[in-house]
Amino acid sequence: MVLRVAVPVPLPQLFDYLPPPGIAAHAIARGTRVSVPFGRSRSVGIVVDACAISEIPAARLKPIAAVLDPAPLLSDELMATLEWTARYYQHPLGEVLDTALPATLRRPRPLPSDGEAALTLTISATFAVTKSGSASARLLELLRGGPAAYSKLDAQFPDWRSAAANLRRRGLIETIRIDATTPPPVCITPPPLTGEQGAAVAAIAAESGKFAPFALDGITGSGKTEVYLALAAPALARGEQVLVLVPEIGLTPQLLRRFRERLAAPVHALHSDLADGERTRAWLAAARGESCVVLGTRSAVFVPLPRAGLIVVDEEHDTSYKQQDGLRYHARDLALVRGKALNVPVVLGSATPSLETLANVEAGRYRHLHLSSRPGAARMPAVRTIDLRSKRLADGLAPELIAGIRDCLARGEQALLFRNRRGYAPVLMCRACGWHAACARCDKPLTWHRGEARLRCHHCGAQQRVPDQCPDCGQPGLAPQGLGTERMEEALAGLFPRAPIVRIDRETARGKGAVENLLNSIAPDQPGILVGTQMLAKGHDLPNLTFVGLIGVDAGLFSADFRASERLCQLIVQVSGRAGRALKPGQVWLQTHHPDHPLLRDLLKFGYAQVARELLVERREAGLPPYAHLALLRAEAKTPTAVEEFLAAAADVAQSPKDLSLRGPMPAPMPRRAGSHRGQLLLSADERKALHAFLSPWLARVRELRQARRVRWSIDVDPVDLY
Ligand code: ADP
Ligand code: ZN
Ligand code: ZN
Repeated sequence: MVLRVAVPVPLPQLFDYLPPPGIAAHAIARGTRVSVPFGRSRSVGIVVDACAISEIPAARLKPIAAVLDPAPLLSDELMATLEWTARYYQHPLGEVLDTALPATLRRPRPLPSDGEAALTLTISATFAVTKSGSASARLLELLRGGPAAYSKLDAQFPDWRSAAANLRRRGLIETIRIDATTPPPVCITPPPLTGEQGAAVAAIAAESGKFAPFALDGITGSGKTEVYLALAAPALARGEQVLVLVPEIGLTPQLLRRFRERLAAPVHALHSDLADGERTRAWLAAARGESCVVLGTRSAVFVPLPRAGLIVVDEEHDTSYKQQDGLRYHARDLALVRGKALNVPVVLGSATPSLETLANVEAGRYRHLHLSSRPGAARMPAVRTIDLRSKRLADGLAPELIAGIRDCLARGEQALLFRNRRGYAPVLMCRACGWHAACARCDKPLTWHRGEARLRCHHCGAQQRVPDQCPDCGQPGLAPQGLGTERMEEALAGLFPRAPIVRIDRETARGKGAVENLLNSIAPDQPGILVGTQMLAKGHDLPNLTFVGLIGVDAGLFSADFRASERLCQLIVQVSGRAGRALKPGQVWLQTHHPDHPLLRDLLKFGYAQVARELLVERREAGLPPYAHLALLRAEAKTPTAVEEFLAAAADVAQSPKDLSLRGPMPAPMPRRAGSHRGQLLLSADERKALHAFLSPWLARVRELRQARRVRWSIDVDPVDLY
């Protein structure tokens, strides 16, 4: 018997190994981690199955070096889902498994022991005398209150480690493991549900124990989170597990606190900013079947859920659910796959449901639940346009907008200005000859970052000094064109010198908790201005925010990307939803040169649902997703010829496929990036089945192509971006 092992390498096949000496192959179950010799090093793989014959000659088979888990780490359900994922996204199983596991578990070590490391006093400590006031004395004093977890000590007592070393030498303390998942007390009683909330909860609860997909459609602040909480509480009481997925910037400490305060069970966060240890602990707690809530971003969709009761995908339209490199999975879609395998209801919540979800509602596959108003006095503000034609602007801001901000501040309230361009100006231009600074590796304008005195390429990260004069004609005085968040911040500071202004974009908000810290820098009951990119579109609730200005969104009206209209409408509605969440009414102003554009007109007049219906009709007529299924073969190389030759050869071995169309080779919408030439082939099929029947044998031929060795290529199934 040999064991077939998935190893995290970019090769589609599994690898055969002999069981380690003295252990029978069938004793090592599917889903168990093993350490195996691979090439010249070792790798952590997962046992997929055992079989009697190997194609590898017996003499070349190597034994597994070590079995890392006494019982399989991955359940049958998770293994089956991950195999499905590998097939669906045409990605090597070993790499899929690698994406699914927290980093600690990808290392060749046994499972970390349960609980968190903590310090506690030994018996001898009872009689210990220490110089009062010393660090050791303070640590002893602290531990008299009971064992303290390392993480708690880190937070309360920054230099505890040296004091601990001293006390440990004297035999006064020792390290133990404590259960870090003690449920916090429930301290907040839920509000009585509104009629619509109650109906939604009842409809979903009635399906518990079955796979049942729901679209929960409700404006921001309509109480979707309350619905999740009302469903989670009884599920937890039954000893079940609840998975709640949120977009990358939706997982705020505020949201975590809200779940923790309300549910009598551990609430684990699972996202990429967490320390490895913390992530692993949360993952293992879920794997043990502890009744808990896992609140996480994209990759949390792979968490083990042996006692699953409910899966929620909040803001399901958000594009951060799609991974854009490596395994290009969509967490919303996988949440449905898992819901089906686990027999649990799946709730897709959004104020602006994706067209994919709406098409599923239309086809009768998902049930549509509505929350149409905000509870209490909160009202959704109406969006009004400011016609920019023939208007004089001060740094891109219309007089109405400036007046609106002034009134808002005078009332002691907060204003949010949305501009989806960071930096000072998107273009730096010579007034004399028209030259502009461009990235030599991407052929795109460089953004001027004035504060840093740098020109930066937002596509490849290249940067350079700002020239004093035009490199072409030698004239001094290069002029900024257009408006980035940095320039808006400056303009607003000039207009409103006394108001605190906080800019939130990728430059100002770097690292863990940065957005939260910036938002907290304006006192919640004080006036202030927030300026920023779409990082401001969601997350953190701001009750004193009553004014929203949207600036420079016109580009979305004329983009070549077929999803641009959908995205623009979602963005406008989401950003608008930030205003008027509490008792105070809000106002939203949108500056545009195209107030009569049908998309804008219909959105503002009839709302998102109506526009989404229109967009779905257009998609159907154009044969685009969600009514067609796409896959994109991307390639890049140092020379355009290498890309063209590879794509032409790939198109060639497609052998005029049945029931699907193949477009290309064509240059990517951004034909050059970071010095590489880029091209693509687009496959489109009316039936998902036809596409999938084609992909696997075709990609096997593509992999064998001589031309494939000269390019970097990847396949993207259900691409959300065609760039
Ligand atoms: P969403 O998730 O749709 O944005 P939330 O669940 O966060 O909405 O609700 C918005 C605000 O309204 C929150 O402050 C919440 O506490 C409050 N809220 C929600 N449902 C109710 C209710 N039934 N009664 C009173 N307040 C509610
Ligand atoms: Zn010039
Ligand atoms: Zn560049």
